[in-house]
Amino acid sequence: MDSYAQQAEAEMWDAIAAQDREYEVERREAEPVDDGTEPCDGCNGSGIYYGRGAVVNGVFKGFTGTCYRCGGKGRQTAKDVKRNRYYDNHVRRFTA
Ligand SMILES: [Zn+2]
Repeated sequence: MDSYAQQAEAEMWDAIAAQDREYEVERREAEPVDDGTEPCDGCNGSGIYYGRGAVVNGVFKGFTGTCYRCGGKGRQTAKDVKRNRYYDNHVRRFTA
């Protein structure tokens, strides 16, 4: 009974199912998860911090680096959030 058309359709549904699973994984990573962490506000989840630049010896240097707010994880743990809140309120003297 296996016609070529039936075989092709079965493969199509397999491919669609595989794609759905991939999408499912991506979506789960992008959505807030209930593990006590939240997306980093310093790097938008990339883990890379894009500095606005600093003046070093009178020379302006822009920089990128591992995000200091999440340690490059892209998400902040409750501990990170607490530390960043303190940093924002007591250390940082410029606004984003
Ligand atoms: Zn970050």
